[in-house]
Amino acid sequence: MRALPSARPASPRRTRTQRRRPTIEWQVCGVCNYDCSYCIQSKKYRVGHPTPAEVERFLAFFRALPGAWEIKTTGGEPFAFRDFTRRIVPGLIEDTRHTLSTLTNLSAPLPILLDFAEQTRGRLGIVSASLHLEFTTPEEFVSKALALREAMDERASLVVNEVVVPGRLDEVERARRLVEEAGLRWFPQILKTKQGTHDYGAEAERVEVLTGSDPDPRRANLAPSYQGQLCWTGVEYFVLTQQGEAWSCRTAKRHGQGYLGNALSGTVELRAAPLPCPYEICPCTTPANRGMIEGVGLGEER
Ligand code: SF4
Ligand code: SF4
Repeated sequence: MRALPSARPASPRRTRTQRRRPTIEWQVCGVCNYDCSYCIQSKKYRVGHPTPAEVERFLAFFRALPGAWEIKTTGGEPFAFRDFTRRIVPGLIEDTRHTLSTLTNLSAPLPILLDFAEQTRGRLGIVSASLHLEFTTPEEFVSKALALREAMDERASLVVNEVVVPGRLDEVERARRLVEEAGLRWFPQILKTKQGTHDYGAEAERVEVLTGSDPDPRRANLAPSYQGQLCWTGVEYFVLTQQGEAWSCRTAKRHGQGYLGNALSGTVELRAAPLPCPYEICPCTTPANRGMIEGVGLGEER
C-alpha cells in the first residue's frame, strides 16, 4: 500500500464542522439474506464476498492506516457472511486504534448478536439496525434490538433505521411507535431511487409528520443537497467495496467519480484537501454525521 495521508491533515478552512471523525464504510459482502422490494442495490449485485485471503488483506490495509478510524461494516448483510463474525470482527478489534460500527438487518440469531456485543466491548461505535417489515415483525425486531443493546458496550449506541415505504405508512407508523415506546431511537429514511428520491404524492404530509419538515441528519435522512459545500469525503472518509475499490462517497461512485484506488492491490491514495460537493443529492447521512460536510452535522449517531 502506498503511503496514505494522515487521517487528520491540515485543512484549508476552519469551520464549526471540524470535529470530523475519520470513517470508512466497508461493504464486507454483497450477499444478503433478505430481498426487500425497495432495496437500492439491484439483486444481481447483492452477491459475493471476499475470500479468506482477501479478508486478511483488508485487515492488513486497516492495520496500515495512519491514525484512528471508525470502520463501519455494511453489505448486503454483514452477518450473512460467515467470515464476518469468524474473522473480520476479531481481526478489526485486534487493532485497538479503530472503532467498529455496523449496519445490520438484525436477522442473525440472537446468540450470534450477543456474542458480537461481547466481542466488541470497548470497541463498538454504532449499530445501525435496519427494520425491514417485509421480513420481520416490529415486535420480533424490537425484542432483539433491546437484547442486543442491553449486552452492548454502554458507550456504544444502537439506532433503528427504517425506510418510509410508500403505501405502507400504517405499518411504518406502528413500527415507529413500538420502537420509541421501547426506548429505542427511530431514524426514518425516505425512499431513494436511481434518479433521486421517491415522490410520495398524496402521502407526503404523513411522511413529513414522520420525518419532520427540516430535520438535521441525526433525525432523518431526506437525501438533501449540499451542492457547493466543502466536503471532506475522500480525505477523511471513503467507501470501500467488497472488491477493495475505494471511492470518495457513494454518490461519487454512482457517477463513476472519486475513485481512490484499490485496498487489495495497495493503491489507495486519499485526497489531500476537501472539494466542493458537485452533486444534487447526498443520499447517505454517514458523511454528514461524521462532520465531513461544511456547516452540517456534528452528529454522533447513525
Ligand atoms: S436488508 Fe438491506 S441490503 Fe438486504 S435486501 Fe433489504 S435493503 Fe437490500
Ligand atoms: S454527495 Fe454528500 S458525501 Fe458526496 S461529495 Fe456531496 S456532500 Fe459529500
